Amino acid sequence: MCDGSLRSPSFPLVRVLSTGGTIASTHTSRGLVPTLSGEELLAPLREEFADRLRLDVRSVRHLDSSSMSAADLDDLAAHVREALADPDISGIVLTHGTDSMEETAMALHLLCPPRMPIILTGAMLPADSPAADGPQNLRLALRCASSPDYRGVRVAFAGHCLPAWGLLKTDTHAAESFASPLPRTGRPPRSLAPDVAAPLPSLAGIEVPIITAYPGAPRSLIESVLDAGARGLVIEAMGAGNVGPELGEGIAAARERGVPVVLSSRVPFGEIATTYGGAGGGAELAELGVLGSGVLRAPQARILLIVALALGREPAELLALGEPGA
Ligand code: ASP
Repeated sequence: MCDGSLRSPSFPLVRVLSTGGTIASTHTSRGLVPTLSGEELLAPLREEFADRLRLDVRSVRHLDSSSMSAADLDDLAAHVREALADPDISGIVLTHGTDSMEETAMALHLLCPPRMPIILTGAMLPADSPAADGPQNLRLALRCASSPDYRGVRVAFAGHCLPAWGLLKTDTHAAESFASPLPRTGRPPRSLAPDVAAPLPSLAGIEVPIITAYPGAPRSLIESVLDAGARGLVIEAMGAGNVGPELGEGIAAARERGVPVVLSSRVPFGEIATTYGGAGGGAELAELGVLGSGVLRAPQARILLIVALALGREPAELLALGEPGA
């Protein structure tokens, strides 16, 4: 559905895709609900950008981002790739809920070639709050989407334009609620995303659960998801990448069945290291062919594994995109 309008053809054209989230939410008798269309979100900023940008606005979802499904991600990727293929468009903005912003950012990062800025933004306060942060975040997103400094997926939030790789929501309420372990400026990201003319396989139906480790976690946690048809596993390990002996046995069983396993950490920051020996230690897991996620936390590692399985690529190839110096 297109509810956008075009301005003077001499200014850069930015496609804005709205999907819901707090930025589009207002208080209703059913609680906070994404009620605003993309056009309504842009309304307070139209005048400000009238002499700089043409805006083409589409409302593609009205979702709380905790409900964003793999089929929704397929559709968002298709919308972004359609915009990338349009020679008139020079930047893309996606308004999105913050709860799963890191997942959508990673999916688009892996599925969309970095031809132009692809900027996600959202808000921590609803649109009808007196201190709503949506307009200022959207303003920043529009600036980043029309800037020559950025290519590929970034998240414009609370004054920063953060890289997608490693992005993490770090606060349930603060306005500055995202962090990224990568430098905020830098070269365009390396990409293995399929060309926009190529068909994209669906992410739907590829089950990759996240299992969080804790001392004493039983191996049945892993066996039950394997029996339910998991195609891959992400382990949210302790520390730099360790699990207890029972979970270690479960991981060994998964590897015997040929299921790819990526190791992340329940600690918010720092690289995964496979250095500790002993049952369930990182060194033993690495010997089983378990891959460390680098700086990615479990939600993004899960999306990476799903995309690798959908594209028929080795997960290690996609993980290497985020290696320092890559
Ligand atoms: N629950 C909301 C969402 O993710 C939170 C937000 O947007 O900040 O859609």
